[in-house]
Amino acid sequence: MKKIQHPATIAAHAAGALDPQSGGVVPALQPSTTFLRDENYDLVRPDNIYSRDNSDNLRQAEAVLQVLENAQETLLFPSGMAAIAAVFRTLPNGATALVQSHIYWGTTAWIMDFCERRDITLITAEADDLTDTAATHDPDLIFIETPSNPWLKTIDIQAVKDTGTATLVVDATAATPILTRALDHGADIVMHSATKGINGHSDVLAGVLSTNSKDSKIWQAVRDDRKMAGAILGPFEAWLLTRAMRTLPLRVERMSQNAQALAEYLLAHPAVKDVFYPGLPHHSGHKNAQKQMIGGFGGLLSVLVSGDRVDALRITGKLQLFLRATSLGGVESLVEHRHSIEPHTGIPENLIRVSVGIEHIDDLIADWAQALDN
Ligand SMILES: *Cc1c(COP(=O)(O)O)cnc(C)c1O
Repeated sequence: MKKIQHPATIAAHAAGALDPQSGGVVPALQPSTTFLRDENYDLVRPDNIYSRDNSDNLRQAEAVLQVLENAQETLLFPSGMAAIAAVFRTLPNGATALVQSHIYWGTTAWIMDFCERRDITLITAEADDLTDTAATHDPDLIFIETPSNPWLKTIDIQAVKDTGTATLVVDATAATPILTRALDHGADIVMHSATKGINGHSDVLAGVLSTNSKDSKIWQAVRDDRKMAGAILGPFEAWLLTRAMRTLPLRVERMSQNAQALAEYLLAHPAVKDVFYPGLPHHSGHKNAQKQMIGGFGGLLSVLVSGDRVDALRITGKLQLFLRATSLGGVESLVEHRHSIEPHTGIPENLIRVSVGIEHIDDLIADWAQALDN
């Protein structure tokens, strides 16, 4: 049944979550941390003991994501970083990890610090060299991000998987499970910051891991780590996430259409030097994106404006509709001058990262037109 339904249908119905007790067509929010035993000391619901293990609202949100990812098992975490940390914490001392360069800065910073403290050999490689580097070193774990943030580089997931025996972890946040089902392309574990497009309303912090090898040692360790170390999403956040995901396919479709149109407009503008967007044929990530993304190329793009830091900040400051704030994947469009945030990582000072929302495209283009003029 689940394989024949389209993502839009699964999402709209929250994978069938209802409230049998009240007859409600939406699930109830159940915040209890602890669960009853009967007079024989048997649990009233054997799957509900204590909410650090699990909760009904968490299972409902996980069920939606599991079907959308075509996964065997899905686990939610209180943030994207908590999900990434849960994977890396399973590595034994002395292990080797290969991590893509120039990805989400928070990931890079945490992994560098963690690997140093844990005596894990960390190898880094640019997107273009990643497959070759993987083949040379055959590491224990490979972590890639496609499309990458904020360079929008893409990586052929299957080609990386085919290089050896490493556990391949793919951060597919910018694609969402709607545009890329990374497990179908060879990933062992797919990760998303659900804070971004999956929730899409800039009001829930969450992260998610899904796998098709739930009996693997690493996945069992991840599952144990979440339970024992307590990095679990609360019922209210899970409930909000389930609510938000009902419109995920619709939002992603509109964001992708808007981003494509805006990217084409900006690329043709005389005050713009280049646009990084996987949907643009001249972009280095276009070929892999065509292979791995279905129905669009997402809402994230980066613009290189003519001039320097001052010009980029002037343009950013003149935008009225695009809010100046970090993050991405929300219904409202955002811009960020990444160089102001991470000046030490080689981000061009004339780069403006753009998260395109679901507003009307004419209004989005008009805002950039007035900001770029003069
Ligand atoms: C935001 C983000 C993360 C981190 O997720 P949080 O939910 O903020 O912890 C990881 N990877 C990518 C690509 C992101 O955009």
